[in-house]
Amino acid sequence: MTARIIDGKHIAAELRGKVTDAVHRMLRDRGLVPGLAVVLVGQNPASEVYVRNKSKAVTEAGMRPHDHHLPASTSEAALLELVAKLNADPAVNGILVQLPLPEQIDAQKVIAAIDPAKDVDGFHPVNAGKLASGLPALVPCTPLGCIMLAKKVHASLAGLEAVVIGRSNIVGKPVAQLLLAENATVTIAHSKTVDLPSVCRRADVLVAAIGKPEMVRRDWIKPGATVIDVGINRVAGEGGKTRIVGDVAAEVSQVAGALTPVPGGVGPMTIACLLANTLRAACMQHGLPAPNIGS
Ligand code: NAD
Repeated sequence: MTARIIDGKHIAAELRGKVTDAVHRMLRDRGLVPGLAVVLVGQNPASEVYVRNKSKAVTEAGMRPHDHHLPASTSEAALLELVAKLNADPAVNGILVQLPLPEQIDAQKVIAAIDPAKDVDGFHPVNAGKLASGLPALVPCTPLGCIMLAKKVHASLAGLEAVVIGRSNIVGKPVAQLLLAENATVTIAHSKTVDLPSVCRRADVLVAAIGKPEMVRRDWIKPGATVIDVGINRVAGEGGKTRIVGDVAAEVSQVAGALTPVPGGVGPMTIACLLANTLRAACMQHGLPAPNIGS
């Protein structure tokens, strides 16, 4: 058996198309253009690529990017001042501060300073708390993408055994909350979990968000399980080039029922969900109904 490959690129393109249509309708019917502020501090090469891709996607969706690139030496006070300005700017509906931040800046303080209504990353404690309480919230983009991909395989996740490896605030915890909201039976595994392979073998849906190249092996997988690989790991490839691999070994496709590829699985969904969240935030701020974009 070879696992069905869940085509994140295609599913993300569909979502982006729906967001773009809704943005065009918003302009036509209300004269409004959603705006996303992306703030990058310093010159982390991976962050520069992410930020460039996000701004490009915002423009392609018909929304307005507000890019702020600050030097690595930026003080915490200066960044907080910019966040306050963006909070107050009616043209800015979403604010994303790219992590990681330089060491002189307390990332938690900056996240807490963002207006929760503009927190399109869903990292603000108010949004995390709402998600945990089952209230409508802006939800982190990568976890949202994971659930959308899992639901392309399972019309309903109710009653399924779901195992999430990883408990970060960015991926593991919110993806577990979303699985719970879908009525799955959820286990969160992490670096202190005893006998991880046997915990994983329970899973009908396994989400790997570890950051360890190809750690999940074929004998960890229940035959036919759906495996969502969140990992993005740069490893040395042939000829001195780096290549990107996930947290799940390729051999897993011999046992799993469905599997997200890396690249081309969860990654493209993250940007598509960011666009969806920016549109959602704009609708909320203008008192409009939630957009009908099917996620
Ligand atoms: P993190 O380092 O904050 O968290 C990793 C988690 O894995 C921790 O909770 C830790 O307990 C767990 N872990 C570490 N070693 C373990 C082990 N040996 N056994 C079991 N659990 C272990 O990372 P993160 O921010 O959650 O990201 C996880 C991965 O997802 C990374 O590869 C990251 O690059 C990737 N990521 C991808 C996207 C995307 O768009 N596809 C977005 C965010 C993160």
